[in-house]
Amino acid sequence: YALLKKDDVDIEGGWKVGEPVPYAALTKTFSLIEATTKRLEKTAILTSFLLLVIQRSKKNDPKSLLQAVYLCINRLSPDYVGVELGIGESILIKAIGESTGRSLSLIKADLKKEGDLGLVAMNSKNNQKTLFKPKPLTVPFVFSNLRDIALSSGQSSQAKKVSIITKLLAACQDFEAKYIVRSLEGKLRIGNAERSVLVSLSQAAVLAERERSGKKWSQEQLASRLEEGANILKSVYSELPTYDKVIPVLLEFGIDGVRERCKLTPGVPLKPMLAKPTKAIGEVLDRFENKRFTCEYKYDGERAQVHKLENGDVAVFSRNSEDMSKKYPDLVDQLPKCIKKSTKSFVLDAEAVAIDRTTGKLMPFQELSRRKRKDVKVEDIQVRVCLFAFDLLYLNGEPLLQLPLEKRRELLREHFIAVPGEFEFAKSSDSETTEEIQIFLEESVKDGCEGLMVKMLDTDASFYEPSRRSVNWLKLKKDYLAGVGDSLDLVVVGGYYGKGKRTNVYGAFLLACYDSDSEEFQTICKIGTGFSEEMLQSHHDALKPLEISKPRGDIKIGGAKPDIWFEPKIVWEVLTADLSLSPIYTAAQGLVEDRGISLRFPRFLRVRDDKSADDATGPDQIAELYERQALAQTKGKKKKGGD
Ligand code: ATP
Repeated sequence: YALLKKDDVDIEGGWKVGEPVPYAALTKTFSLIEATTKRLEKTAILTSFLLLVIQRSKKNDPKSLLQAVYLCINRLSPDYVGVELGIGESILIKAIGESTGRSLSLIKADLKKEGDLGLVAMNSKNNQKTLFKPKPLTVPFVFSNLRDIALSSGQSSQAKKVSIITKLLAACQDFEAKYIVRSLEGKLRIGNAERSVLVSLSQAAVLAERERSGKKWSQEQLASRLEEGANILKSVYSELPTYDKVIPVLLEFGIDGVRERCKLTPGVPLKPMLAKPTKAIGEVLDRFENKRFTCEYKYDGERAQVHKLENGDVAVFSRNSEDMSKKYPDLVDQLPKCIKKSTKSFVLDAEAVAIDRTTGKLMPFQELSRRKRKDVKVEDIQVRVCLFAFDLLYLNGEPLLQLPLEKRRELLREHFIAVPGEFEFAKSSDSETTEEIQIFLEESVKDGCEGLMVKMLDTDASFYEPSRRSVNWLKLKKDYLAGVGDSLDLVVVGGYYGKGKRTNVYGAFLLACYDSDSEEFQTICKIGTGFSEEMLQSHHDALKPLEISKPRGDIKIGGAKPDIWFEPKIVWEVLTADLSLSPIYTAAQGLVEDRGISLRFPRFLRVRDDKSADDATGPDQIAELYERQALAQTKGKKKKGGD
């Protein structure tokens, strides 16, 4: 609690048991978290606050904690429900103007100076003289208003949004306006990622349990219970990523209850398992030495997690847990004939791939990305899609995550029926030698795939690891056999004016990686070659609405000087010849050396609209690629010397 009282900030301010959580308590907590750069301290502050919420909530009231946690991660629902904030700058400026009586030009000038609309809103509010103190805001009130804003659509929605925001801002005191505006923008910027919120939540639950039990724990017992609690909650959440289900169980049955009761459930998409890149077949064999493994085609489509519930409902989720059932109505229609009668409920992990039905040929990812994301009508579909299933995660009431891959694969083949061109099992070969893998790799490329996925088969290491980029899954792509080992997914944060023929579009772009621990974008390179005129036009159309007058505070700029800054939203997949240390860019600064790491000769591959900015490549992956490249160069030199 001492942490909550720092700098005379009084979090509690008369907040009594059974009363709604004051929004002021939450925003003061945010400001304390923002003020420190120490990770452990950030976590401890939030833990203390969440414990207070638990202690002050009425019995059987999970709502207070639920809403507080949602506001801490700046969401209003689980990912897959898709109630999203992210209100445009102009609406917010209008609302700030209306609630404070300041002119739009003054607000815009302040924004140019500060680069943070939250701060501008707070200062505008706090400099305003008011006769009456407004009624204090509460978390449930703010939460339900934010939901109304996020859900309002249609013609008059803009005016409605401005009016709700104006009303909220009018009631703001102290730090509240700053965080309401940042929440509305879609980014809190307090440097506390969801992973840390999960740790704080587990710690608060453990501390509340200790208090309720009345038992005395030694320091060691407490430390080990806190660590165990965090591990349990992280693992449960990766299997069932919805606080709506986890928090009520956590409050009623404690941490151990969560472990027993919260399991993978059809209808709630889990975060998919990901693969580590490898550069050569030799590297695969090194990693899987003396182990059993299988190679599968790495299909070039879109990841699709297909769920069937006991009640017959079917849903298709993307890599990012977005509901894609409306993008793939044909997939949903095709499915029934591929499911055996005995298969009542399931979760499949698969790749949806565009296919030419007449020739049976697979088509590249781009064919699918042309589809609308919503309201696709089966009769309008030009390009058909085939589902290539590679894993079965749940079957008839039982999660299968802990079973070895071999068993999951067996169950998959037993409970589904392959229908060529509509539903197929991912082609696999349990090859062992370099030659066999090489032949299978070439075959996969000939068949229109990106390369191979090599997966561990050994019983004790082939369980499904949700949300992990695991060493038990390796990807071997044709593209990077000669490059650094993987393409990178980077966020477009800036633009450079074009010259000559390109004066009406941006001619080059500034890219950044994303550090999910510190929640900041780190610049990595300027990219300007390899774009056709057409491409530049379409990038311009997509990026123009994202132009902002000043770089956002969460961009670690370094020496980069683009002409224009963008709201970091769009993700591109980029290939590079190699990585080098850089005095200009900030990516992975401090991980390998004080200097950052930059890409040499970056080449644009494609837009990744299945990824959000938070899913971009992280600095640790970049440092790993750099170190691996350095190692390969030393090995290469040694080999040459030996020869
Ligand atoms: P990328 O798709 O660019 O390789 P990513 O970050 O989306 O990167 P990775 O873990 O790197 O994901 O690669 C795995 C992806 O490959 C999966 O997300 C899936 O969409 C696709 N894929 C295609 N075939 C398979 C397969 N047989 N097994 C697993 N994933 C496959």
